[in-house]
Amino acid sequence: MKIDKEAAAVLLPKDCDQSIAIGLNAREIRCHCTNEACDFTLVCRDLLDAYSELRKTWAKPIFVTSGFRCQMHNLDVGGVAQSSHVKGLAMDLSTGNMNDLDRQRFINLCKTIFSFVKVYPTWVHVQINK
Ligand SMILES: [Zn+2]
Ligand SMILES: [Zn+2]
Repeated sequence: MKIDKEAAAVLLPKDCDQSIAIGLNAREIRCHCTNEACDFTLVCRDLLDAYSELRKTWAKPIFVTSGFRCQMHNLDVGGVAQSSHVKGLAMDLSTGNMNDLDRQRFINLCKTIFSFVKVYPTWVHVQINK
């Protein structure tokens, strides 16, 4: 699928298997549910740009534990009704394998790039506000 650079949001088929940002394949941010009706991935271009910037600076692997969520899956995982994951504005990045120093550096870096960062015990929620 062609990605329109001008578009604010990118809509991809759920089985899309292409690189969409530096070090990020579309598969990594697709919804984790198995609902038949869930057949696309929605992601904001600004979020992808921010991720690319993060990946350029953080030269180690980054694991996305949650990216886009369809409405149904968002309810299943207990997400808030207007979750930014549903709108393709947020992703959760694992910090589970980092030592304390790396984890703090990673969090600080995220805060300089994304417009909203929320820290959890083993992951960081990063978000672009629209
Ligand atoms: Zn889904
Ligand atoms: Zn999140």
